[in-house]
Amino acid sequence: MNIDEIKGLGPKNLTLLNKLGIYTIEDLINFYPFRYDVIEKSDISSLEDGDKIVIDGVAESLPSIFYFGKRKDKMRFKLNIGTNIFNVDIYNRGFLKSKIKIGTVITVIGKLDKKHNLIIASDIKFEKITKTKIEPIYHTTYGIGMNTIKKFINQALLKYNSTFNMIPNYLEEKYKFIDRKQSINIVHNPDDINLLKKALNRLRYEELFLFMCKMNYLKNNQKNKIGLKRIVDKNKVDAFIETLPFKLTNDQLKAVEDIYKDLTESYRMNRLLQGDVGSGKTIVSFISLYINYLSGYQGALMAPTEVLAIQHYNNIKKLFKDYDINVKLLIGKTKKNEKKEIYEDLENGKINIIIGTHALFSNEVTYKNLGLIITDEQHRFGVNQRASLKNKGITPDILYMSATPIPRTYALTLYGDMEISNIKTLPNGKKEIITSIKKTSEMKKVLESIYQELKNNHQVYVIAPLVEESDKVDFSNIYELEQNMNKAFGKLYKVGILHGKMTSEEKEKVMTQFKNNEIQILISTTVIEVGIDVKNATMIVIFDAYMFGLSSLHQLRGRVGRNEIQSYCILISDKETERLNILCETNDGFKISESDFKLRGSGDLFGVKQSGDMVFNIADLKRDFNILIKAKEDSEEFLNDDSKISSNEQILKLITNNFNLD
Ligand code: ADP
Ligand code: MG
Repeated sequence: MNIDEIKGLGPKNLTLLNKLGIYTIEDLINFYPFRYDVIEKSDISSLEDGDKIVIDGVAESLPSIFYFGKRKDKMRFKLNIGTNIFNVDIYNRGFLKSKIKIGTVITVIGKLDKKHNLIIASDIKFEKITKTKIEPIYHTTYGIGMNTIKKFINQALLKYNSTFNMIPNYLEEKYKFIDRKQSINIVHNPDDINLLKKALNRLRYEELFLFMCKMNYLKNNQKNKIGLKRIVDKNKVDAFIETLPFKLTNDQLKAVEDIYKDLTESYRMNRLLQGDVGSGKTIVSFISLYINYLSGYQGALMAPTEVLAIQHYNNIKKLFKDYDINVKLLIGKTKKNEKKEIYEDLENGKINIIIGTHALFSNEVTYKNLGLIITDEQHRFGVNQRASLKNKGITPDILYMSATPIPRTYALTLYGDMEISNIKTLPNGKKEIITSIKKTSEMKKVLESIYQELKNNHQVYVIAPLVEESDKVDFSNIYELEQNMNKAFGKLYKVGILHGKMTSEEKEKVMTQFKNNEIQILISTTVIEVGIDVKNATMIVIFDAYMFGLSSLHQLRGRVGRNEIQSYCILISDKETERLNILCETNDGFKISESDFKLRGSGDLFGVKQSGDMVFNIADLKRDFNILIKAKEDSEEFLNDDSKISSNEQILKLITNNFNLD
């Protein structure tokens, strides 16, 4: 069955689902919630100001609506909970107005503003709270809401009949897992916490087991592989490096040296290039592509998002503008006829270097002689790669790049004998970002610091307290912040907002304005995390910083300090300031990720997946490290035992198909 056979899923919705990486029924089913809300009636007497509140009652007034900005509204009504009457504010839910009559039963989920006897609601439901409810929360995208996605997923689940378990039977029995199909159903429609835990456990193990099998398979397969024979004129490489607008750092030079050696010697390269945000990995990858080009092979650079792919493409075009190198961009939204031409030119060898997203490895693509694959953010490649690479009998060298450094012990577990190059120093002239923590009560000081930067003609990012774009509550926070910033600075400076629910055109417009310094204060969700480089921005203020993992905060902080001007990061948090302290002490991403690993317990079942680690679909390297260790041992045992393999051919196929790089 095809995905478009699902009721209500027309071409328009399909395009929107594609944006979330959903193309097939399988993708829909595997589109897991990124967290769960446990909806349980709050004990009002124990709530503090700012706490999350879930309460039911009846409407005591008809709602009134205020409209502001484009497509924004705020609705207010009174909710009688028996012992108290609250004002409830909810943003952008004006369409519910007619459903709220005096006496209507309503459950309100939101944040308590004790002083004003107000609840800022993120959601309302027209029912009482009867028992504890577990609500799965999914990522959404502009134009398609969570309820629609849920509806599609549940229809897909009805059509899903596969009995294939993906883990060998003996392991299913060993761990007493619930079976796959049932687990998937539970994960999408949980009603019991213990069962949900079991289901999550099973799927996380499954993902990690398959991942480790693939890793081990790749490694075993790789050991005896002869790489490409290349002849490269080192002088040309050096001359190219000479033409760069800056001097490479020692670590960059060392990485280039490592890669040059890998490429020109007879073994096959399998290298991980690790380096902090802004450490300058991209230029190393471009030089690698140049070396590969000189030896007469095609090269491919795969980025995790279209934005990044486009940025890489524009940069490399500029870099090679005086060279006779044919570089092309291939992404999902490349026009059909252009795609066709690119496919042809990849197959006949006219294209030397191709930059793109996973579209580079789709079924339609055949390479004439792909000699080097580089992937930005290494985890995305291979593991979920369906299509096998068609490459006319050539075994390409591989370079993985990662900006989320993985501590050595973890890297060894995951990658085993993969070679690693580290870029540890920032490029010359870059100053360390000065980071401080402030309480919300110190807001005046924060505003003064912001003003200081603005007066110096610099620009400022303000990050709204949200971890995921689908949290509706965050809208109110963004708009609230916009109002506050306008109150403080609106007369002198322009304030802009950016969030994931804006269309790409709207986003691009705001970003361009910020780049051109037509906007001085950009209030944003974490959508700015990837691919934005505005050198004049020197301060980032992150609200409710405790909600983020250290590595994510570090990534966000990397948006400033893009050149030699001193930059600042202010973390606003009333909680967990001790944990956040490490960010004030160091700018070293390796150290930060070490402590991130150490600090995170295994207990946060419902924890929010951090935006920095989009490594796995359902597993999380840090939280599930113990499962990973088991999966690693089990995968080794499995792959080394012919009798086990031969009775599990389907699983073997799954493992080898995805890594068919030859
Ligand atoms: P990342 O490692 O995060 O991918 P980039 O490659 O994007 O980092 O580099 C960040 C910025 O630093 C870019 O604007 C890049 O041009 C610049 N850069 C890279 N290497 C150097 C260097 N050796 N000296 C000065 N600037 C550099
Ligand atoms: Mg990069």
